[in-house]
Amino acid sequence: MNYATASSSRAGLRLHLNENTAGCSPAVLAALRAIEPQDTAFYPDYSAITAAAERWFDVPAGWVQLTNGLDEGLHVAAQAAARGRQGAAALIVDPAFEMYAACADAAGLSDIHIPPASDLAFPLEAILAAATSQVRLIYLTDPGNPTGLPIPAGAIEHLAAARPDTIVLVDEAYAEFSGRTVIPLLDQHRNLIVGRTFAKAHGLAALRVGALIAHPEALAPMRRLLPPYSLNICAVRALAAALNDRDYVDWYVGQSRTSRDLLYDFLRARQITFWPSEANFVLARVGDDAQDIVAAMAARGILIRDRSNAPGCRGCVRITAGVVDHTRQCLAALEDILATRGR
Ligand SMILES: *Cc1c(COP(=O)(O)O)cnc(C)c1O
Repeated sequence: MNYATASSSRAGLRLHLNENTAGCSPAVLAALRAIEPQDTAFYPDYSAITAAAERWFDVPAGWVQLTNGLDEGLHVAAQAAARGRQGAAALIVDPAFEMYAACADAAGLSDIHIPPASDLAFPLEAILAAATSQVRLIYLTDPGNPTGLPIPAGAIEHLAAARPDTIVLVDEAYAEFSGRTVIPLLDQHRNLIVGRTFAKAHGLAALRVGALIAHPEALAPMRRLLPPYSLNICAVRALAAALNDRDYVDWYVGQSRTSRDLLYDFLRARQITFWPSEANFVLARVGDDAQDIVAAMAARGILIRDRSNAPGCRGCVRITAGVVDHTRQCLAALEDILATRGR
């Protein structure tokens, strides 16, 4: 398959936010162009699109709540955890997606951070030790952002079973790339919630569409907190078209996988430490001049993410692994920049 990938967009090559660097499927654009005047005038009906999402995630009716981006789902999970509970806390495993702390703060939860192990391995024992009765919500990310690392098999079940009164939210924003999900565990663990987004693999970041997936009993407290028309009609139509075009996602996941391998080869050849990633990005320890390298890349119109201030990520940058051609452009620039720095 071949899609036009000339998306040298607004600000050059955007490899800093894990977006789909090819954009959305052409079928999504066609669906947006087909929107009629009445479509924009009437409040949207979500029944058909919710059913389509339930089929996509292979869960029964009532198990998917679509949200205005996964970010909205992360917010209502925090609000549900905080509701009516003085002194409740959210547990965040560092290095973490920044939204978790923001959501906890917005909901009035205090946040307890689990510091990273030196190899950034998943700290199950430390999480269990920190998950006291005060902790009402645990945010997990599988695969992790910014590390790209998987949560080891069995750890999520263990945690959900050990803390049945705590919401365990597993953010699977990159599940299309990892090919793994804990959705099959949801029936058994009623405190487990899976978060998904169509922003990354499906390329709908600007349309804002995500989902919470769980047993309906687990979703009920979050549904009470959502406004009735959280998704606009463009997001609804775009998602319908995206879910009908699995080939596009498969193609993009393939591009990302090849790009990851290119990044690994490049980093290995230069003895730069990196973490093998199950997501569409790679975290690499380029050194204490990470910030300067990021700036030099930006000066060439290629944005990569300085993560050197994230816990456990000293000297690290995160680079999106998307369209292969974009990765080659990135690596050519990085090679030049490292060379001028004597490396
Ligand atoms: C990108 C990302 C999200 C945000 O998803 P939206 O649907 O754009 O709100 C959530 N979690 C993680 C870990 C992400 O990287």
